[in-house]
Amino acid sequence: MSGCDEVRAAALRGEPASAAHAEHLAICASCREEQAGLARLASALAFEEPPAPPPGLVARTLAAAAPLLDEHARAVRARAALSWRRLALALAPAVLVLPVLVAADVWLLRSAYELLATLLPAPLTAYLVGSYALLLAALLFFTFAAIPLLVQRQSVGPWKEGHV
Ligand SMILES: [Zn+2]
Repeated sequence: MSGCDEVRAAALRGEPASAAHAEHLAICASCREEQAGLARLASALAFEEPPAPPPGLVARTLAAAAPLLDEHARAVRARAALSWRRLALALAPAVLVLPVLVAADVWLLRSAYELLATLLPAPLTAYLVGSYALLLAALLFFTFAAIPLLVQRQSVGPWKEGHV
């Protein structure tokens, strides 16, 4: 913070000028001009201690929120218990389809290799088909890895607000 900022902030907080601030005020006409206005603003912004909450407010608030918090906790537990069943239900069709997908990918790669081998040198064909095989494997991995995330995302619904 620059000297001007420090002096002005102290004046705004209503603090008495320290020796360093007094030295700055002696040489800085801009800060000297603003001192009176900052002092008036500081007194206008000054406030007394915040009012204390009424007695029993905390207890009444907690009592009013308790049913909602209990309901929310029960709903979260119920959704967490359901998620394993939902995960199994979501994974079952994907796992059943997996052998078909792998067989189709193998057939596709083998056909691509045979076709490209007639047109391109063997190392280039192996490189292209190998790269494509890695891409297919990565896509398959990420697709299956996303299933648990999607199930978890669907099982955690939005929190419904209610009033007592
Ligand atoms: Zn200054």
